[in-house]
Amino acid sequence: MKIAFIGLGNMGGGMAANLVKAGHEVHAFDLSADALARARDNGCATYTSVREAVQGAEAVVSMLPNGAIVDSVYSADVIGQAPTCALLLDCSTIDVATARKVEEAARAAGYAMVDAPVSGGIAAANAGTLTFMVGGTAEAFARAEPILSAMGKAVIHAGASGAGQAAKICNNMILGATMIATCEAFALAEKLGLDLQTFYDISSKASGQSWSMTSYCPVPGVGPQSPADNQYQGGFAAALMLKDLKLAMEAAQAAGAQTPMGARAEELYQKFADAGHGGLDFSAIIKTL
Ligand code: NAD
Repeated sequence: MKIAFIGLGNMGGGMAANLVKAGHEVHAFDLSADALARARDNGCATYTSVREAVQGAEAVVSMLPNGAIVDSVYSADVIGQAPTCALLLDCSTIDVATARKVEEAARAAGYAMVDAPVSGGIAAANAGTLTFMVGGTAEAFARAEPILSAMGKAVIHAGASGAGQAAKICNNMILGATMIATCEAFALAEKLGLDLQTFYDISSKASGQSWSMTSYCPVPGVGPQSPADNQYQGGFAAALMLKDLKLAMEAAQAAGAQTPMGARAEELYQKFADAGHGGLDFSAIIKTL
């Protein structure tokens, strides 16, 4: 299949390479010359604009930084430029309202479009083991599923347009809040004189257990290998957790939902980023407790 790929950064670079490995003809574009060079090394054909990359495409996949960029790229250079038979798939993490607005504009112009944000970081993007949460019609999901499967281990239909983004931010709001709660508990356990490995052995088999504890323990040397064992380098940057918490708070406000724990997690990650730690893995917030 001829697939245009827009946005070849940390995530998109590996995803485009996996589409090539699956036998697709990938027509790639990014504003960065370095990203384009890496895409060429990975077997993509590269172009000098979005408009050129989407000519004749059967599908367009995007992996861009935020909603404003997704909106401008689709309205200026994809809608009306790609053939209307092309399926449009935006895999970026953006706000629900913009995802729905762009899909409506695409639908009005005759395209089928899905929002398909991902869970899993750069390593999963490179390995082709992302989880995709997809918003769109059943027909659009059926068309998207085989394309996304080439880049992921799980592709789940979340519901109508925008539902993928809704699932993503609700999931990451749980993650942000449980990570902080887990960090607090380990910090308190230490002050109360508990051995941290012993506390882990107890709590990981008791009701305090969570993914933040048993798959991504914020304490070095405790639990499975995690960014804590690598000075909090790599993993999922605190700045990206903050981005997702802000999207969750915006959505909560628009929907009139009460999210006091999510709001507190956003404040704490904002403080952490303001102190210059946004590039560290999000579990490094334990250092502030
Ligand atoms: P990134 O900044 O590494 O990549 C974004 C790329 O988009 C860059 O190469 C940039 O040059 C390009 N770009 C920006 N504007 C463009 C335009 N107008 N036209 C073409 N290209 C343009 O970011 P990333 O880490 O790859 O993240 C991409 C998306 O994936 C974000 O929405 C992010 O929230 C989401 N995400 C990231 C992770 C992660 O661990 N990095 C995990 C899950 C989801």
